[in-house]
Amino acid sequence: MAKDDLVCSFCGRKKPETNLLIAGLDAHICDRCIEQAHGIVIEESKQEGAIELKSEFKLKKPKAIKDFLDQYVIGQEYTKKVLSVAVYNHYKRLLQTKDDEQDDIEIQKSNIILVGQTGTGKTLLAKTIAKMLNVPLAIVDATVLTEAGYVGEDVESILTRLLQAADYNVDKAQQGIVFIDEIDKIARKSDNPSITRDVSGEGVQQALLKLLEGTTVNVPPKGGRKHPDQKFVEVNTENILFIAGGAFDGIEKAIAKRLNFQAVGYSASKIEDDYEKDNILKYIIPKDLKDFGLIPEIIGRLPVLSYLNPLDSKTLRAILTEPKNSLVKQYTKLFAMDDIEFSITEGALEYIVEKAIEYKLGARGLRSLCEAILTDAMFEMPDSGEKELKITKAYAEKALNKVEIKKLKAVS
Ligand code: ADP
Repeated sequence: MAKDDLVCSFCGRKKPETNLLIAGLDAHICDRCIEQAHGIVIEESKQEGAIELKSEFKLKKPKAIKDFLDQYVIGQEYTKKVLSVAVYNHYKRLLQTKDDEQDDIEIQKSNIILVGQTGTGKTLLAKTIAKMLNVPLAIVDATVLTEAGYVGEDVESILTRLLQAADYNVDKAQQGIVFIDEIDKIARKSDNPSITRDVSGEGVQQALLKLLEGTTVNVPPKGGRKHPDQKFVEVNTENILFIAGGAFDGIEKAIAKRLNFQAVGYSASKIEDDYEKDNILKYIIPKDLKDFGLIPEIIGRLPVLSYLNPLDSKTLRAILTEPKNSLVKQYTKLFAMDDIEFSITEGALEYIVEKAIEYKLGARGLRSLCEAILTDAMFEMPDSGEKELKITKAYAEKALNKVEIKKLKAVS
C-alpha cells in the first residue's frame, strides 16, 4: 500500500489529512484521535477522583477549623469563630445522605458576607479555608461583573474561574468556594434607580442571586462570551460556598446613626473618636447592608454576616512574624537557601510597622516595606560569601531612605 493511502483506523482520515499517523500492529491512529482519546482518559480518571473526594473528606470540627485559621490569620477572633461554624455547617449539609433528607429538614446554605476595610484579611480567610479543606477557590472582583449583554463579564464567568481552579473537574468545582470581593461596589447607588438604568448595580445583584441560591448553569469552560459553537459545562452551584467581602465605605456612620449615637451635642469628631476606640462595625446588622444598597434578596442569600477589625500596630507586628508563612519566616527561608542566616531585631520590626501605619499601607504594605529594605541584600549577598544578615532599625531606616515611599504606595 502506498504511504498516502494509509488511513486512521479510528476516524478513517487519510494520511495526508493528518499531521501524524502512528502505526500499530494491524492499525493506525492519527494525532487528532490520540488527543481525543487522551481527553477521555483524563475525564475518566477525574470521575474516579471525584468519588474519592467524598470518602476522603474528613470534616474538621469548628474548633479545629478555627485552630487552623489561627495559624495563618492574626486577630479577627469573632470572624474566625463565625466562619468556623459556617464552614462546618456548610460541609455537614454537603455530607448529608439521601436518608438524612427524608426527614424533610433541609439544611440551608451558610453563604457568608464579611464587612471590613481593605487589607484586613477577608481574602486571606477565604484562601485559608480553601487550603484547609483542599477545595478549589475562585476569587472574583464584583466590579468587573455586568448583566448579560453588557460590556464586562457575565456572572457565569465566576464559575469558569472555579472550573479552572478545579482543573476542570466539575465535581470538585461544585464543592468549591467562591470569594466575591468588593461586593459593596455593586450596591444600588440610590433609592431611585429609575433615572438611568443601573447596569453595574442592581442588575448584577439580580444575576448573582441565582448563583447564590443554587442553580444549574451552563458555563463556557474557557470563559469569554457565549457563542453558539462553544461547548458548555453544566455546573450546579447548590453546594458551592460563597463568601462575599466588601469595605462598605461609610457604613460606620450609618450604623452610628442607627444606634442613635448622634445624640444632641455629640459632634461628628466625637463619633469618629468612638470608632477608633471601638470598631463600630461589630454592631452591623443586615438592615445596614440594605440601607447601603444591597437588595434584600442578596442579603437573604448571604445569611452569615460578620465584620473585620482594622489592624492596629500590635496586630501588624504579629503579622510580620507569627503566621505559619509569615514574611519573616519566608525571608529566613529564602536566605537560608543561600546558606545565609537571616535575623531581624525587634526595633526593626517595630520600625516597619510604624512606617506601614504612617503611610497608611496596611498589612499589604508590610510586604513592600520588607522588599524595599531587603532588595540590596538579596541582590548582593548570594555572591558575596557573607553568611549572616542582621536587620537592625538603623539598617532598615537607611535602606528605606533610599527608596521613595511613594513607590511603595504604588505597589502595595
Ligand atoms: P482584604 O481581602 O481584606 O482586602 P487581604 O486578605 O487580601 O485583605 O489581606 C492582604 C494581605 O495582608 C494578606 O495577604 C496578608 O498577607 C495580610 N493580612 C491582612 N490581614 C491579616 C491578618 N489578620 N492576619 C495575617 N495577615 C493578614
